Amino acid sequence: MELENMYTSLGISRQVLNFGNKVEESLKGRFRAIDETAEYNQLKVIKAMQDNRVCEAHFAASTGYGYNDFGRDTLEKVYADLFQAESALVRPQLMSGTHALHVALSGNLRPGDEILSPNGKPYDTLEEVIGIRNSTGSLKEYGVSYRQVELLADGSFDFDGIEKAINEKTKIMTIQRSKGYDTRPSFSVKQIGEVIAFAKKIKPELICMVDNCYGEFVETTEPTQAGADMAVGSLIKNPGGGLAPIGGYIVGTQACIDRAAYRLSAPGLGREVGASLGLNQSFFQGLFLAPVVVANALKGAIFAANVYERLGFPVVPNSREERHDIIQSITFGTKEGVIAFCQGIQAAAPVDSFVTPEPWDMPGYDAPVIMAAGAFVQGSSIELSADGPIKEPYAVYFQGGLTWYHAKLGILKSLQKVCDAGIKRY
Ligand SMILES: *Cc1c(COP(=O)(O)O)cnc(C)c1O
Repeated sequence: MELENMYTSLGISRQVLNFGNKVEESLKGRFRAIDETAEYNQLKVIKAMQDNRVCEAHFAASTGYGYNDFGRDTLEKVYADLFQAESALVRPQLMSGTHALHVALSGNLRPGDEILSPNGKPYDTLEEVIGIRNSTGSLKEYGVSYRQVELLADGSFDFDGIEKAINEKTKIMTIQRSKGYDTRPSFSVKQIGEVIAFAKKIKPELICMVDNCYGEFVETTEPTQAGADMAVGSLIKNPGGGLAPIGGYIVGTQACIDRAAYRLSAPGLGREVGASLGLNQSFFQGLFLAPVVVANALKGAIFAANVYERLGFPVVPNSREERHDIIQSITFGTKEGVIAFCQGIQAAAPVDSFVTPEPWDMPGYDAPVIMAAGAFVQGSSIELSADGPIKEPYAVYFQGGLTWYHAKLGILKSLQKVCDAGIKRY
C-alpha cells in the first residue's frame, strides 16, 4: 500500500504501524469529540473577527512608537471578544508566557500586597518572578509577599485552606490551569470558576488571574468566562496557532489590563505605544488556525497516552481521562527510554530531523535534560516537542503537533526507537 510504503520510507516498521493504527482506530469517538470542540471554537474565532470587521489594512506594519496601530488594536478587541473580557493586550513586546505573567502580576500589585496560589507551587519560572526562589528584581524585592495552599491528595482545591490563607493583604490569587511539568491533574474551566467564586465570596475585591498556558481552545469556554479578572498566556503556545513567531497576551477587565499596559510600556504611555512591526497578520492568522491546531495536538497527546499505556508505561493523563491542556507525560523508568523517545520525536520533525538530541546540563535545572524540537519557531511548544529530565522517575513531557499526521508520525517514530533499543516496561 502506498501509505504503508511512505511510513516504511520514514523508518516505521510494519509492526509499529499496525499497532499504531489499531490504537488510532479505537480512538475514533474521542477524536470526534475533539473535532466538535474545534468546530465550535473555529466558529467563535471567525465570529469575533467578523464582529470586529477584520480587514486587510489591519495587517499593515507599524514602526517606531506604533501610535494608531489599528491592526494591533483590532486584534486586541478580537481577543477580548473571544475571551468575553473587557480588554486585552496582545503584543510582540510580551516576549514569552513568563514575561506576560510577570507584567500582569507586577502591573497589578503594589508594595505590601500578597499573592495567593491555591494550587501549590506555581510553574517553575514564576518562582523567580515571585521570589519563591531568590532572584534579582523579583516581586519579593518590591515588598510583595506570597502564600500558597497545597492541593488536597486527590488534586482538588483545599477550600478550607484557601479561606484561612486569604487575609487583608491578599491582592491577587493566581491559578494555574495546566499542570505544567507537575503530576497533579490540570483544571477544567468549571473547577477554576468554582475556586474563583469561593475566593470572591470571602474577598470580593480580590483579583483572580489564571495562567492559561497550554489551555486555550481545549474547551469551549475560557477562564475569563468563569469569573477570572485576567487570563494570561503565550503566543508560541496554543493561541498563536504555530504562526505567531513571538508574543504573549493578557485579557481581562479594563482596570487590570490598563494597569498591566502601564507596566509593560511606562506610566502615562500604557497601551498607546508598541509597534506591531508587521506581525499582525501572523497573529490574526495564527489565531484563526489555533482551534484546529490545538485539536491536532490534543489528538497526538491522547494517541501517545493510549500507545504507551497499552505497552505498560504509566501515563498522565491516562488513556481515558478528560483533557484540560495539551501536555502528556509518559514514565519510562529508565534513562534509555527517555532518550529513545526524544530522539524519535526529533527524527520525525520537518526541521532539524538529522540532529540527535542528547541530555545536557541546562542552566536552572538540577539534572541533565534532553529536549527534542524540530520547530519552525524557536522553543515553540505548540509544535511537536518533548523533553525529559534525566532523573527519577525518568518521565518525558510531550506536547504539540501542528498537524495530527505529524503528531502521529512523531509518536510512531518514538515507539520505533524505543522498540529498536530493546526497551521494555521496567
Ligand atoms: C509555558 C508555561 C509558562 C511560561 O511560558 P514561557 O513562554 O515558557 O515563558 C507558564 N506557565 C505555564 C503553565 C506554562 O505551561
